[in-house]
Formats: sequence, structure tokens, C-alpha cells
Amino acid sequence: MQKGLAGIKTIRDFELNDKVLFLRLDLNVPLEDGKITDDTRIQASLPTIQYALEKGAKIVMASHLGRPKAAGDKKYSLEPVAARLTELLQKEVILVEEPDSDGIKMLLTGLKKGYQLILLENVRYIAGETENDEVFAQHLASYSDVYINDAFGASHRAHATIDALPRLMKDRGIGFLIEKEIQMLDRLLVNPQRPYLAVLGGAKVSDKIEVIEKLMDLVDGFVIGGAMAYTFLKAQGIPVGKSLVEVDKLNYAREMFKRMEARNKTLLLPVDHVKALTIKDAKGEVTVDAALEEPYMGVDIGPKTIQLYRTALKEAKTIFWNGPMGVFENPAFSKGTFAVAETLAGLDCLRIVGGGDSAAAAEASGYAAQMSHISTGGGASLEYLQGDRLPGLEVLRARNRG
Ligand code: ADP
Ligand code: MG
Repeated sequence: MQKGLAGIKTIRDFELNDKVLFLRLDLNVPLEDGKITDDTRIQASLPTIQYALEKGAKIVMASHLGRPKAAGDKKYSLEPVAARLTELLQKEVILVEEPDSDGIKMLLTGLKKGYQLILLENVRYIAGETENDEVFAQHLASYSDVYINDAFGASHRAHATIDALPRLMKDRGIGFLIEKEIQMLDRLLVNPQRPYLAVLGGAKVSDKIEVIEKLMDLVDGFVIGGAMAYTFLKAQGIPVGKSLVEVDKLNYAREMFKRMEARNKTLLLPVDHVKALTIKDAKGEVTVDAALEEPYMGVDIGPKTIQLYRTALKEAKTIFWNGPMGVFENPAFSKGTFAVAETLAGLDCLRIVGGGDSAAAAEASGYAAQMSHISTGGGASLEYLQGDRLPGLEVLRARNRG
């Protein structure tokens, strides 16, 4: 069982005036030709940065971006992020090209707090970052007074700026983004209001088994869509054509039906689909029922299923959604996913969206603002929900000083 935020300090607990604040953020935004295509993660980091500015801290921000293979790999530079931060904060953001540069101490001496902030280049330019290297961490600790982690999306990895560095710091805690993420995710784990439904979809059953296992005893039912549904349908003997099926998970699916029944819980599956020859087709066709014949594959849930899921969701008091209902990246097959987003937007119960593609789908649907919470965490939110300890949180609990 997770311990939530117990024993973890927040940025509010520290005196920040004239202190050097090392702020680990998740500024890992998607880029195309050097342009930011979605700045959600930057926006989500602003409250903590702004708070630190107001409190008079000298701020050193750090983040990873992608997986650079070599130091200085330009494709993974935080330059576009620095530019966007400058725009959003209306302050000067100084990008330091070498994250382990000795020049930072000098820079900090002359830093005009409240007007200038430092952003270290991609911390993964230093091999020691992913190696959780103590020497790199010591360098960063040597000029930092307070350490704050607000990089929820990176907190499931024991890397130097997430784990080794805070081990060396006396004053350390979390920012507003992580605080909110954990508070919201805990509402799915601790005394959730009932009925509680989990809408699961996406590509693979195998990616989600741990989450399914954890949620099975917590929820009142699963609502299943996406490619995952075809493994469950096939397990029931329903023909699924060329749809994605995980043959080695058919037994797991069969057991699931029994286990859900034994617990008196519901498991809703699609009763019709949108079928196509490939996921790239310009248009699909609606099936009459749950059966699908070759050469077709299921690419979205059908209109009867949308209706069925809508009715079920309207009864719920708590909803967790992970995994698109179809190949939503193709506008022809986005209807089911967007209909779920629309349905959730119209409800006033607790509705939490988790998962990288699910967050993107909620965003693309236009209904993101109406959700109770969209986790910026991707993998981290699922790992937290399934009961894994996040290294970035555990290290901050009171007793864990190395
Ligand atoms: P998340 O990142 O939110 O956890 P996943 O990564 O599990 O979600 O799944 C997202 C992917 O699942 C999307 O790229 C989507 O195209 C794909 N997908 C959903 N339904 C289908 C389907 N019927 N056939 C093939 N792929 C699908
Ligand atoms: Mg994904």
C-alpha cells in the first residue's frame, strides 16, 4: 500500500528568500522540427516556478528531454523550452549548456533574482543522470540550498536528479504539481466514492495487467475498449477478424471473467465496432454486433457501445480512464474515444485520466479542461496506481537521508 504524501515536505515548508532552489521539473515536451507541439508539461510546472519567484529564490531548473545518445545531441536540447518559459514567465531564462558546469556558481552570484532564472540543459547529456551517479549529484548539491522535485513524470526512475541528489540534501520536498497528482491519484485508491468504474483501453492487455490486478478489488466494474477488448472478446469465443489479439493473454482474459463474476463486479465489452482493413484507412464501417470477420480489424468502438458505456458511466461516482477506445490518432477512428471524453466532461463526479496517450486523446477531444484531473505522469501515474513505490517520492520521506 502506498503511503501517499506521508512524511514528505512541500515547497511551502521552506524559507526560500535568497536561497538557491534546485527545481527538478518534467519539461519533456514533444517536439517536431524543433517546435513544441504540446506545452502541457511546461504549463503544469508554472505554479511552482512562480511561487519560488515570489518567495525570492534563486532558481536553478533541471529536466530531461527524450533519450539523447550523446552529450549535446542538439535534437534533445531544451532551447525551445527555455524560449517558451521566457515567454510564459516574462523573465529571462538562462540556458546553461553543460548541466555539470562549474560556471553555475558564478552565475548564481550575479543572478538577478525575480528577473532571471537558470535552466540547465538536458540532464541526460550527462551519463551520470541515468546512472544515478553520486558525483554528478554532489556537483549539483554543492550549490543548492533547497531541493524540490516537481517532475512527476520522471519520479518512477531512480536517476541522479530524482534520487541521488535529494539523498544529499537536508532541505528537500515536492512542488505543487506532484502534490496535486498524488492527492488526486490517492482518491482513486483510498475510500473511493461508489460506484467506481475504470475505463480501460489502449493497445495491449499486457501493458495493463498490473493496473487491472490492483483495480480489480477496488472498482465496481471495468469498461473495456481499444485493442485490448479483442483479446477479451476472443476469449469468449467471439470472432474478431484481424483485430489485435494477444494470444498469450487469452487465458488471463478467461480467468478475468470468472474472477469478476466471483466478486460480483461488471466487465463491459464492446457490442459493436468500427471495422477497417488497416488503421490508416480513411474511413471505417460499423458492424452489426460484437462479431468481426476477416479481413477486417476493429479500430474503434461502435455507436451501440458508445451508448452502452455512456449509460454505465452516468451512474458512476468515481471514474478512472486509461487507454483510448480506438485508433484515435486517425480522425476516422476517434469517435469512440472522443465520445467517452465528452461523456466524462458532462458528469460532475470524480473523473481522472491517466496515461500518455489518454491524456493526449483527452486534449485532442477538446474536453480536457472539464476533467477533474489529467495526470501529466504517463507511466508514473500507472505505476503509482498499481502500487509501485516511486523512487522520487520515497527518497523524500523523512527517514530516507543517505
Ligand atoms: P496510454 O498511453 O494512455 O496508457 P496506450 O499506450 O495503452 O494508452 O494505448 C494507446 C494506443 O492504443 C493508441 O496509439 C491507439 O492508437 C491504440 N489503439 C487503441 N485502440 C486500438 C485498436 N482497436 N487497434 C489498434 N490500436 C489501438
Ligand atoms: Mg501509451
